Amino acid sequence: MTADELRRYLEFYQDLGVKTLYRRTAPAADSLPPLAPEAETLLRILEDIGDCRRCRLHEGRHKLVFGVGNETSPVVFVGEGPGADEDEQGIPFVGRAGQLLTQMIENTAKREGIPLRREDVYICNVVKCRPPGNRTPEPEEMEICGQFLFRQLSAIHPKAICALGGTAARALTGHKEGVTKMRGKWFDWHGIPVMITYHPSYLLRPYNQDAKREAWEDLKKVLHYVYD
Ligand code: URA
Repeated sequence: MTADELRRYLEFYQDLGVKTLYRRTAPAADSLPPLAPEAETLLRILEDIGDCRRCRLHEGRHKLVFGVGNETSPVVFVGEGPGADEDEQGIPFVGRAGQLLTQMIENTAKREGIPLRREDVYICNVVKCRPPGNRTPEPEEMEICGQFLFRQLSAIHPKAICALGGTAARALTGHKEGVTKMRGKWFDWHGIPVMITYHPSYLLRPYNQDAKREAWEDLKKVLHYVYD
């Protein structure tokens, strides 16, 4: 990637929300020591990903989908990987499943008396490039891209993580059970509680009304844990 391409790439993400890319704490007060130059930031991670060709998923992508939202969010939602709409726009969860996720976050929060908008949280995926035909990412792809998810979560260091669907659940917890068994329970990611729930795409299927209700319950648990 040339310097000019990198600059344009960073500007694209900055347009999505400057606060999501820059240091989360400016040394505002005199008494605060300056941040260590090696401090991890989402911007640094994005720079390191660059024009990633580490796995074959790069071959079919239009845009790499890094993540979006508030770098200081106390909760991070982790999906599986970009679909067609996300690949086109470079933003996670903007298609039908994304619209449902947004509704779930905002409506559940509102009903529970928590003032919260989608842009207040951080949203990303296990893999940053769209798998062909929306297939499940291969273990090798998840492992290669997983280093960046690890760094994103470490940089944000939220109070809780919400894993959306089986792929995110497996990537974050290492457990291999199906999502139906794991949902609604707390797991652990390097000391941070992880709630597992259904993927919004699964909830879009008309016969999954019970799952929808359960996902709402899971989300309520996350929001109360994080914001009460
Ligand atoms: N599904 C995902 O897992 N992630 C997205 O960003 C969109 C759909």
